[in-house]
Amino acid sequence: MDNKGVLVYAEQEGGKLHPICSELLGKGREIADKAGGALSCVVFGSAVSDMAQELVAYGADTVYAFDDESLAVFDPLVQKQNLVGLVSEAAAGLVLFGATFTGKAIAPRVATALEAGLTSNCTALELQDDGTLLQVRPAFTGNFLAHIKTRSSTAMATLRYRSVEAAVKDASRKGAVVKKDLQPVETSVKVLGKGEAKEASIAGADIVVCAGRGLKKAEDFAMVKQLADALGGVVGATRPLVDDGWISKDHQVGFSGTIVKPKLYIGCGVSGSPQHLAGMRDSGTIVAINSDPSVALFRIADYAVIGDIYEIIPQMVALLKK
Ligand SMILES: Cc1cc2nc3c(=O)[nH]c(=O)nc-3n(C[C@H](O)[C@H](O)[C@H](O)COP(=O)(O)OP(=O)(O)OC[C@H]3O[C@@H](n4cnc5c(N)ncnc54)[C@H](O)[C@@H]3O)c2cc1C
Repeated sequence: MDNKGVLVYAEQEGGKLHPICSELLGKGREIADKAGGALSCVVFGSAVSDMAQELVAYGADTVYAFDDESLAVFDPLVQKQNLVGLVSEAAAGLVLFGATFTGKAIAPRVATALEAGLTSNCTALELQDDGTLLQVRPAFTGNFLAHIKTRSSTAMATLRYRSVEAAVKDASRKGAVVKKDLQPVETSVKVLGKGEAKEASIAGADIVVCAGRGLKKAEDFAMVKQLADALGGVVGATRPLVDDGWISKDHQVGFSGTIVKPKLYIGCGVSGSPQHLAGMRDSGTIVAINSDPSVALFRIADYAVIGDIYEIIPQMVALLKK
């Protein structure tokens, strides 16, 4: 890193910070302290001053706040254009984003404008003693961990949710909040409307009950949902069920779906393909229910239940209801 500072993009929606912000600030603080630089943060939105104080409490030395009514609507082109100039103002050698839809919409645009190297979907970042930044991310559907060093003077990375420790909030921390004027940008993005999330997201869920092709028909998701509800969790699915239109894509666990890291994962009729394992192998406790004792999911499971999901799930629900 030529510059010693770290700049974190703080994602917010409707006045609420995304939980990944505290994780990015925790990692950013560690790297900035080791490099001997400052930790800055940038937030875009309407009425963001309370959030700016919260970001200071999570460890930011300086928060750049773009506060403008027009920012109530997310426009990656406007944010990108205003962010590009800030990277040198913050003397940032590293710019961090969450590997979320928002982070992934902005980071590549900023990287292209700055001709900076961007490593996406990192699960670990480490500033080495010689000052180089090591970026670790899964490759080949999670079978390898690639260790990447960036040659450009500014390094950029998106970090997966729940892959690093979150910073602890300290309301007594002091930092500077710098209000920035939003530079108008001609944009072709037009927001036609906003869909509401139908159910709790699987990405941040503590309990995921995941159905696989052991399910015989789409209607049987009701059985899986009963188990998820009884545990206070959410329903996930393997890709074939999504491809068949049985459930929406936002429920798909896996490499080409959502990476989950719940405290409890229960796979019901899931074989454990490499693409699926890449999306859930870091779960806390893994329970697998399958009629075939030789499946790959059993090899990483903490509890292996060999049997028919149509017999076992109703029994589990009945016991939980007691
Ligand atoms: C580029 C690419 C990306 C992919 N991305 C993903 C991804 O993100 N996520 C993903 O999940 N897949 C992904 N896949 C698909 C993946 O390769 C597998 O096809 C898929 O994960 C298999 O899903 P499954 O375990 O539900 O089905 P299967 O492999 O068919 O397993 C079904 C299991 O159910 C068991 N079973 C059947 N009946 C019962 C019963 N009554 N009771 C108990 N057990 C029963 C069987 O023993 C079997 O083990 C991807 C594939 C490719 C090529």
